[in-house]
Amino acid sequence: MNIERLVLGGERTAATDGKTFQVIEPGTGKPFAEVAQASVADADQAVQVAYRTFEEGVWPRMRATARGRILLHASNLVRERLETIATIEARNAGKPIRDARGEISLVAAVLEYWGGAANKIFGETIPVQDAGLEVTLREPVGVCALITPWNFPLVIASWKIAPALACGNTIVVKPAQLTPLSVLLLADILMEAGLPPGVISILPGPGAAVGNALAKNPLVSKVSFTGSTGVGTQIMRLCADNITRVSLELGGKAANIVFADAGIERCVESSVFSVFGNTGQDCCARSRLLVERPAYDEFVERFSRRAAGLRVGDPLSEQTELGPMISAGQRQRSLDYIAIGRQEGATLVGSGGSVPAIAGGEEGFYLQPAVLTNVKNAMRVAQDEIFGPVVCVMPFDSEEEALRIANDTPYGLAGSVWTRDLGRGIRVARGLRAGVISVNSSHSVHTEAPFGGYKRSGIGREMGMHAAQLYTEVKSIFFSQE
Ligand code: NAD
Repeated sequence: MNIERLVLGGERTAATDGKTFQVIEPGTGKPFAEVAQASVADADQAVQVAYRTFEEGVWPRMRATARGRILLHASNLVRERLETIATIEARNAGKPIRDARGEISLVAAVLEYWGGAANKIFGETIPVQDAGLEVTLREPVGVCALITPWNFPLVIASWKIAPALACGNTIVVKPAQLTPLSVLLLADILMEAGLPPGVISILPGPGAAVGNALAKNPLVSKVSFTGSTGVGTQIMRLCADNITRVSLELGGKAANIVFADAGIERCVESSVFSVFGNTGQDCCARSRLLVERPAYDEFVERFSRRAAGLRVGDPLSEQTELGPMISAGQRQRSLDYIAIGRQEGATLVGSGGSVPAIAGGEEGFYLQPAVLTNVKNAMRVAQDEIFGPVVCVMPFDSEEEALRIANDTPYGLAGSVWTRDLGRGIRVARGLRAGVISVNSSHSVHTEAPFGGYKRSGIGREMGMHAAQLYTEVKSIFFSQE
């Protein structure tokens, strides 16, 4: 097996101490790649290179249009190589190939957006009281450490890499240990597209040592983290010492609120994928399904039938609707939560939550999606982020009750409302304490629109032009006319 080397200042290289680790393919449970394991020494060196490169100024002072062209070129290369990258992502993260293609198209779209946006990030002129001209500039922050999770490996990395580069920063990326392969490929593509040496490093390996080293390093000006709320809390603490800027995209426990007038057919299909898509490993997963009582029985019956019929299997099959989970540990976590839910009094519908027999994938981390009814919102299954294919279904009797249940969570990332009553759609969307809401849709992610959470789901907004605020400082300059 060839060793995938890490990226240090744009160059592929071995880890300083020569260590490597194995990446497992979730569909087979078998080793898929051997990857250089970055150490704390590699992290420190990557930050040094990024800092020097930033100070030398080639990248931050390059004309914004020229920076944008490099991102546009990279976007085209991603599109040209879409099938190769999608296949690697499908195998490494256990995603159905059709979903992986969609994700890599989204990565190309994100690079394209920021390629076009690079020369549209600008300041203001402000009519101050003193005689003169007051202007603001938006300047890059400096070295940005970008720490990403395994559930949408390249998509989430691109949400950080593209705006950070468009704004003129140098970057050190720490992908999740389980899924480093596509991000390494993207670094190669960016270099091929013309990114100057020193601007990008990619450090695969376990989170704690390298992630901590990046967050603590005083030469890092900004940390952008996507992952669990627990690790996000630690990172925020580490950033406090140096007043390092930090943005966090964390966990979720989104509500999907279905009113009886919603039109059950379209709503069932969309709702099933809104929680079980990516085998439930989605921070936006609508894992609490609230159904208005008059529609409850019929909706739950149809929803459960569709869930039971989902085609779980080989990620590379065009027929597959749900791939395996990322790891044995993640699957066990879901199984444990299903057991906890039943002990708390919830009912498991049908044969959900069982481990299916997949030909050729006997050692893979497959799990049949589980529907839990008779759930109370105070139960652990309804409060904790399970991050697997488990949905908690609860009835409600009024708009107020739906909102009360939906908002009774420490999280506030996403949510959906289904109704044909426009006024109610507006009221409920506004009443939800969460950052990303869809009405009559499960679609939360748009390249051009802000994405991020309220409460313990995070701080800051990625995507759209809002993301430029995460990767720039504002400088105010006053020119006296006297
Ligand atoms: P995680 O928190 O375990 O890891 C995220 C990243 O942090 C990985 O790169 C990991 O190696 C690194 N890391 C781990 N421990 C660290 C430490 N002590 N210091 C610094 N870095 C460390 O999360 P995960 O299991 O990879 O991803 C799943 C979580 O991510 C879920 O909670 C999910 O909700 C969340 N998520 C949030 C969003 C969002 O946009 N809000 C998107 C996707 C995933």
